[in-house]
Amino acid sequence: TQSYASLVDLGKKHVTKGLGRQIEGVMTKGEGSYVTFGDGRRMLDFTTGIGVTNLGHCHPKVSAAAAKQCTEIVHAQCSLAFHEPYLQLIERLLPVMPDSSLDSFFFWNSGSEAIEAAIKTARTVTGKQNIIAMQGGYHGRTYGAMAVTKSKTVYSEGFHPLMPGVFSIPYPYWHQLGVDPSTDAATLTSMCLNQLNLILLQQSAPRDTAAILIEPFLGEGGYVQAPPEFLRGVREICDAHGILLIVDEVQSGFGRTGKMFNIEYSGVRPDILTCAKGLANGFPLSGVVSRRELTDQLKPGSMGGTYAGNAVACAAAVAVADAFKEERILENVQARSTELLAALNALKAKPALSSAILDVRGTGLMVAVEFASPTGTGPYDTFTDASVPKGLAARVAKRCHEKGMLILTTSVYEVIRFIPPLNVSQADLAKGVQIFAEAVEEVVR
Ligand code: PMP
Repeated sequence: TQSYASLVDLGKKHVTKGLGRQIEGVMTKGEGSYVTFGDGRRMLDFTTGIGVTNLGHCHPKVSAAAAKQCTEIVHAQCSLAFHEPYLQLIERLLPVMPDSSLDSFFFWNSGSEAIEAAIKTARTVTGKQNIIAMQGGYHGRTYGAMAVTKSKTVYSEGFHPLMPGVFSIPYPYWHQLGVDPSTDAATLTSMCLNQLNLILLQQSAPRDTAAILIEPFLGEGGYVQAPPEFLRGVREICDAHGILLIVDEVQSGFGRTGKMFNIEYSGVRPDILTCAKGLANGFPLSGVVSRRELTDQLKPGSMGGTYAGNAVACAAAVAVADAFKEERILENVQARSTELLAALNALKAKPALSSAILDVRGTGLMVAVEFASPTGTGPYDTFTDASVPKGLAARVAKRCHEKGMLILTTSVYEVIRFIPPLNVSQADLAKGVQIFAEAVEEVVR
């Protein structure tokens, strides 16, 4: 309609260019695994708004809890006094934390802010400054988070100087080590741990190193599961040198990879854990979880924020936690994950596609397909102008969009990621795989 077109046009003209976009359009409704655009297009959403709407769009219990809270108190400023949902949420989260030592909570709005608070906490409680991050890691766009983000230069280009005191080592992902894609986990692990030991000997001495920051499942850097032995090795090095381990589960947390937190696969104990996204299924809320022994050292007033731990967002998160149990979400993740990986591997096995599809990988419903690329990296600026996708992954994503499915690329490599809702039905998952398969066949052909 005319008014829809003019709305789209308004966005094109008056929204900052700094905000990238994949699709020219306006979403007007979200329902479970689907979103509808103002022009009537209904699309299967395999992005969940970048791993956020894990229980589907507008989950009835979550929306109802938020609506109810809106009639009680919306803004109960947390530096004045607690509000009920804040404390109810802690009650729900305490038993599902990956380690019982994680018993001190601070809620903020976004993943980036959680990272800021984690870095501040690590610096002040250790009295040390440096942070060792991972190449390929993504932690956000605020200045501290940007400094530890190493997935793409677009996040920092033109914005230097960044926060000082940040060092990095390669993630155990073959691309970053210049080795063959078939390199085994033990080899990748020892190469990366060696780099970590070298950093501590050559660049940032343990007495200057406050924390090591890691995504146990690399998200924006390519969708790669860190081998458990690598994470255990990092923990050992932290323990040996009095360095804190910050585990960023902003994307991988809350059931996304089949356990409440991805770090559970390794049994590693984080000193500080950051989470957001799926925590409140779309309401802006993040969490920084640590142990009282550490956070008792913080000065009152040093953490906070006008909207930090908003009551409506916390009420939504409480409903998410309850729905998780009642609706056996983790069981669905396991079942759908097995189907998704099997279907994608079958696609990869097709003779016509075997040279185009390099890898199928993932844990739970954090799954990726990597395409072969003559240069190793792909033209990654798919956010800049979706109308002219250049690489194979971007072209496949665009074809999926045209066929009625929202899907995202990730990293500087040719990677497509599948982040469907954790309660996606078997039929919708199969439909998404079908659309993807057709798109790949059309683009590769
Ligand atoms: N950490 C990770 C692992 C993320 O994936 C993201 C967001 N993609 C962030 C931090 C930043 O979160 P936010 O966009 O809410 O600031």
